Amino acid sequence: MIKRELVPNAFLAKRPEVLRKRLVLRRSSNDRSANVYTLPVPASAIMAFGARGVSPAHQGNLRNSIDFYVPEGTPVLAAAGGVVFATRDDSNVHGISTRYWDLGNWIDIKHSRNEYTWYEHLAYKKIRVRAGQHVKKGQVIALSGNTGFTKNPHLHFQVNRYFGTGLDDYVTLRARFEKRFGFVQKVYAGARRAGITGN
Ligand SMILES: [Zn+2]
Repeated sequence: MIKRELVPNAFLAKRPEVLRKRLVLRRSSNDRSANVYTLPVPASAIMAFGARGVSPAHQGNLRNSIDFYVPEGTPVLAAAGGVVFATRDDSNVHGISTRYWDLGNWIDIKHSRNEYTWYEHLAYKKIRVRAGQHVKKGQVIALSGNTGFTKNPHLHFQVNRYFGTGLDDYVTLRARFEKRFGFVQKVYAGARRAGITGN
């Protein structure tokens, strides 16, 4: 049983009843991450992207999430150095009903400046890190999968910043990626494919 204080707010806040509240966020520079991240999957593996308007889940607090469509078994990389906050890898089911909402495998990593990265839909029993472990940017932390509330294999990625202790006291930020991956920023404007360079 996971300790109460170790249950990340993001995991609890992603429940549908919270999602439906559709917290309206102000568009401002605070909407962008303070940290600069690398891609959470190899760029060469990306077949397509999904952002707001593509995934039905990318609303409210999850509005700035990005889906990276990659084959199952693709290495998932730590987007920056940090400390693993919590993980789950024991689910082996998926579906497009919200009853699968809490049945995905995931990793939550804490970084500097109160930012956390969240990696969702990971493959069953393929997580290679544990809570409390320090990870380096680009380190392989898991293999991608298709678990939880999902139709096709992809990695759901989000950057969170917390501003309180309540269940939805966080905002999902627009991730600032390294310059060489700047094309991903177009995804926030609704692009499903955005000039993938293959590196
Ligand atoms: Zn997603």
